[in-house]
Amino acid sequence: MSTQPFASARETALNEGLRVWAEIDLDRFAANIQALRARAGEAHLLIVVKANAYGHGAVPVAQAAIQAGAWGLGVAGLEEGDELRRAGVVAPILVLSSTRPAQAKGLVQRDLRVTIGTLEMGEALSQAAQELGRIARVHVKVETGMNRFGVKPDEAVRLATALRQLPGIEVEGVSSHLAVADEDRAFTYQQYKTFHECMQQLPWVPMHHISNTAALLDAAELRLAMVRCGLGAYGYYPSDQVNHDVPLQPVLSLRSRVARVSTLEPGEGVGYGLRWRAQRRSRVALVLAGYGDGVRRALSNKGIALVRGQRAVYAGRVAMDMLMLDVTDIPDVEVDDEVTLLGTQGDESILADEIGELAETISYEILTGLMERVPRLFVRDGRIVERQDLTGYRRAVSAL
Ligand SMILES: *Cc1c(COP(=O)(O)O)cnc(C)c1O
Repeated sequence: MSTQPFASARETALNEGLRVWAEIDLDRFAANIQALRARAGEAHLLIVVKANAYGHGAVPVAQAAIQAGAWGLGVAGLEEGDELRRAGVVAPILVLSSTRPAQAKGLVQRDLRVTIGTLEMGEALSQAAQELGRIARVHVKVETGMNRFGVKPDEAVRLATALRQLPGIEVEGVSSHLAVADEDRAFTYQQYKTFHECMQQLPWVPMHHISNTAALLDAAELRLAMVRCGLGAYGYYPSDQVNHDVPLQPVLSLRSRVARVSTLEPGEGVGYGLRWRAQRRSRVALVLAGYGDGVRRALSNKGIALVRGQRAVYAGRVAMDMLMLDVTDIPDVEVDDEVTLLGTQGDESILADEIGELAETISYEILTGLMERVPRLFVRDGRIVERQDLTGYRRAVSAL
């Protein structure tokens, strides 16, 4: 199981006999960050790397984001922040979701900025900061229409003012989150207006922020001191409606290989439940990826993959570790042919949006649903520079 330094992802996958793998193109990722930075102007760029960087692999992606000029990183909770700190990431990290007082010490120890909606949490952080001889930086979350977490504007002003008095606390930011930035500008501006009124009463707070990817693409005037981008950094537009003028390229390709090609006579069935039957003399290819890897079972009989640069439809149900493709109309398919389940092969691409639509979900969930057991191969200039395997084992090229 040794990786040759400077091998391409394809060579490595074939040499090691990998069943399925994800290629993460760090050059494309860096280009996306540059494009988002250009749109963000003077505003800081926070790259959201929650959920294992939307399935891409948190640590290498976080490092690449900072290298490409992001100010900081957004995570969902303490554990995700811990993973980055353990890997040596020193950049600012903001915890975006709600945390509990029991986590205060852990958050302060790791120098994680905390999004906060209660005085109780502020007091716990103040206590922890004093015990540890550190500063706890907090961002007060304002509720402007999404009704998920945060406090109403009046209360936010009172909370921020109270937090400011607590020893060891620095109120670094005030934030809110947009509910429909990808589909309803009017409501987005209404949320912004509510937020703006609150901001004006807190001029002493250095960072105000409300924008996600969709808002940055569609309503750049809302960028304020910072924008928080997840999906855009991974090369996807949040919806068809948002502006597509910032050039973004999908970063992740999910690949597998043909393990067997068989010929079926009319009437023969395939897979669990025999949900696909040959209508004519057919050739089907066995592909070594399944729902245990994050390929949705909802794609049974309708998913699409690329083989030899052409589209092939899934034949039968997706199983845990395998699926079948109808390759009757693609000549010469053979064992070890590369299969692209997501991403680009030759001139053809299959995007997470398309797969999401077929599986009745969204691109976000398709990307995030990529399971941990799928090895991530991080590529620059066509060469693997790092990898993330099931064991959490990572190594740099220099250490190979
Ligand atoms: C996940 C998240 C984001 C990023 O949203 P995208 O649509 O992926 O850009 C921004 N802000 C908060 C609070 C989030 O939880």
